[in-house]
Amino acid sequence: MPTIFSQIAAGEIPARVVYEDETTMAFLDATPLAPGHTLVIPKDEYPRLNDVPADVASELYATIHQLVPAVEAAVDADASTVAFNNGEAAGQEVPHVHCHILPRFEGDGGSN
Ligand code: 5GP
Repeated sequence: MPTIFSQIAAGEIPARVVYEDETTMAFLDATPLAPGHTLVIPKDEYPRLNDVPADVASELYATIHQLVPAVEAAVDADASTVAFNNGEAAGQEVPHVHCHILPRFEGDGGSN
């Protein structure tokens, strides 16, 4: 059974897509922790970071690198938390590698 993110990548489930290329995709989180909360995925399904081939990891990083300032600018954020939950015990709910870009604002009260 493909993950929900594979289904989004295949266009079978709708999402608010903010970026897409041959290898990667970014869309807004369905349950955002802040305005602009974005998820970046490899389109192919890899459960954990160590499963991602180096060339795909490189593409994924390039997309993250490009999107972090764009997401911050889009919601006028002061900073962002950029994070992977890697494995169930770390809070990873969807077993398809994804990077959270979580916009942060002065005084939003947290270091995570
Ligand atoms: P995790 O806890 O696995 O690191 O994060 C999974 C994230 O995926 C959560 O923030 C959750 O809100 C988001 N999410 C789960 N299902 C969907 C979905 O169907 N569509 C979108 N856009 N986000 C989802």
